[in-house]
Amino acid sequence: MSEVKKVLGVYGPGSNHWVGDGFPVRNMFPSNGLKDEINPFLMLDYAGPSYFEPSKKSHGVGEHPHRGFETVTIAYQGAVEHRDSAGNAGVIFPGDVQWMTAASGVVHEEMHEKEFARNGGTFEMIQLWVNLPKAVKMSKPRYQGIAKEQIPSVELGNGSYARVIAGELHGTRGPASTFTAVNLFDVRLTAGTKAELQLPEGHNAGVFVLKGDVVLNGVDSVKGEARIATLSPDGDSLVLQVKEDATLLVLSGEPIHEPVFSYGPFVMNTRDEIMQAVRDYNDGKMGHLA
Ligand code: MN
Repeated sequence: MSEVKKVLGVYGPGSNHWVGDGFPVRNMFPSNGLKDEINPFLMLDYAGPSYFEPSKKSHGVGEHPHRGFETVTIAYQGAVEHRDSAGNAGVIFPGDVQWMTAASGVVHEEMHEKEFARNGGTFEMIQLWVNLPKAVKMSKPRYQGIAKEQIPSVELGNGSYARVIAGELHGTRGPASTFTAVNLFDVRLTAGTKAELQLPEGHNAGVFVLKGDVVLNGVDSVKGEARIATLSPDGDSLVLQVKEDATLLVLSGEPIHEPVFSYGPFVMNTRDEIMQAVRDYNDGKMGHLA
């Protein structure tokens, strides 16, 4: 017997700001107060869609640290070049995903890719922060560069589909390796689709609507651009219906029941651990870019 996950709330962005000079973002949480309902996810920034003029200079965000969680970057339009102090580098093109585990600490930069910057164009990207349990916050950093071709699709009928980035949907597993149970699906629905997604009982979940007019479980509607609905941990399915084409990011995860103490780019369990992170970064213990 399947029971739907109930919609707990629908939120718009809590803030609009620039990250560096490359990412004009709408923050979908936590600036709007959305926090516990979406645990283990910490933050979601939706960059663009915005047009950038051709430029000799690459826009982006220069050298900065992270500790205690993972950053997941999903490219929709445009391309981002990444370089970090653990020696990893890569370009995230449309359809690609970068899953970076900062864990004990990395320093990195995130810049518009050179050719994209030179030609200009529309830039659209998501960055999602996923918390790590205490037991692995200080483990070794890890980098998963996931190309578009590695991400399997589940057909949802009517030409609609879900790309499974992490976790599992209807028996199809995504390529991203995670430390706790996390599902992340890039969902594209064509006009007239009605589809049911199975989501784990006990997972907190969210449906981020990049654009579209979506009816959830036949009752709750999420309209327009950049809106996020949260779903109850109770229940194991979600019914989606659209009259027009829609792009969604569906996320679900097992909540991490540990204290969260965050300060800028560091997310730990206690204030002391945050002070230590600041000291370690200042002492160069998170490394530097070559
Ligand atoms: Mn970063």
